[in-house]
Amino acid sequence: MLEFILKPTAKPAAPGKMKNKFISSISLSQYKIWDLARAKNVPFAFDLELTARCNLDCRHCYINLPADNPGVQKTELSFDQIADIVNQSVAMGSLWCLLTGGEPMLRKDFSEIYLMLKRKGLLVSVYSNACLISEEHIALFKKFPPRHIEVTVYGATAETYERVTRRPGSFRAFQRGLHLLLDNGIQVRLKAMAMRSNVAELPAIAEFCRKQTMDFFRFDPLLHLRFDGDPAKNEDIRAERLHADEIVAIEQGDEERFTVMKNNCEQFVFSADEHHDCRHLFRCGTGRNGFTVSPEGHFHLCSSLRHRDCIVDLKKTTLSEAWNSLVPRVRAMTSSDPEFTRKCRACPIVNLCLWCPAHAHLETGRLDGWSEYFCQVAHARAKALLEKSGSKKSQSG
Ligand code: SF4
Ligand code: SF4
Repeated sequence: MLEFILKPTAKPAAPGKMKNKFISSISLSQYKIWDLARAKNVPFAFDLELTARCNLDCRHCYINLPADNPGVQKTELSFDQIADIVNQSVAMGSLWCLLTGGEPMLRKDFSEIYLMLKRKGLLVSVYSNACLISEEHIALFKKFPPRHIEVTVYGATAETYERVTRRPGSFRAFQRGLHLLLDNGIQVRLKAMAMRSNVAELPAIAEFCRKQTMDFFRFDPLLHLRFDGDPAKNEDIRAERLHADEIVAIEQGDEERFTVMKNNCEQFVFSADEHHDCRHLFRCGTGRNGFTVSPEGHFHLCSSLRHRDCIVDLKKTTLSEAWNSLVPRVRAMTSSDPEFTRKCRACPIVNLCLWCPAHAHLETGRLDGWSEYFCQVAHARAKALLEKSGSKKSQSG
């Protein structure tokens, strides 16, 4: 967690109850500025997908295209186009940028883009598979530190890692890159995707990650389908999905994660009539305080929302037009499908499900579509939670 050291003040704006008169440090998320930005609907964070290309070919990947595909490369925004979008974004109040991909370090101008963001005063995070980390990147990160570099760990052994990535030699490249980061004191976070090809090794992956990063680790067992809808690759993803009961078993096996879920059971299983009459599609925070820019310069309210009615091309329109006209239009979208109103909109366990209009669209082609798989996972989670927490609330949906 990034901590800012503050000078003592006579009237500290203490987060929560402070015993002492002085604040020695507070976490970044406790800054009042986030509340102000939320209240004023400022796009304070944005994701830049620098490329959809990747040096790996992970079985579960929703975006990757071949690293050396010149046709794809030609569609990517230039440095100047990216700088223009960043300037507009900073002028609108943005403070935080996530560089992601594909693998963002595949871009030859990655360091220039990173430096440009830092010079604008932005907090910068990077998602990477770490395989391409070089001494040059390390020198850059040491001089201009990122908020963190988040690295996905696909396996704890070469056999499992490369079963997922389908690239011989990638485990060695990952280990080298990760150690370069860690040995040079760069803030690293590790995460994993749980899937058929690595589930047997998940405990070893968790142990490896916790050891490397003094306990920061998270995993995600819900794989979503591809942005480009590629049918063959979507079949690969479906084949990697774990069954609902397997997901519950691994979640229960992770004490930290399951305790959080259990302690917040009331947030996950609420009363069924709370949202009953609402036909609005979006109940999440999409488009409230952030946005995503795709490699070719399309504005998205969030990274998964790829429906054609929810996108504008930032090469043809300004960021402020996108923010002020597209976002309210998308957030006001409704569904007239009675099945949607009866099922997902009124569902008391929607928070245990990957269901949202963006994922529904990737799964079914419709923003108000229903996914049997998501539903099975949510019901299995709810059953486990209610059993363990002893809650009397019933599930439906
Ligand atoms: S490393 Fe990430 S972007 Fe690359 S193929 Fe794997 S999941 Fe996709
Ligand atoms: S898919 Fe099922 S669990 Fe998820 S929101 Fe819809 S009805 Fe609820």
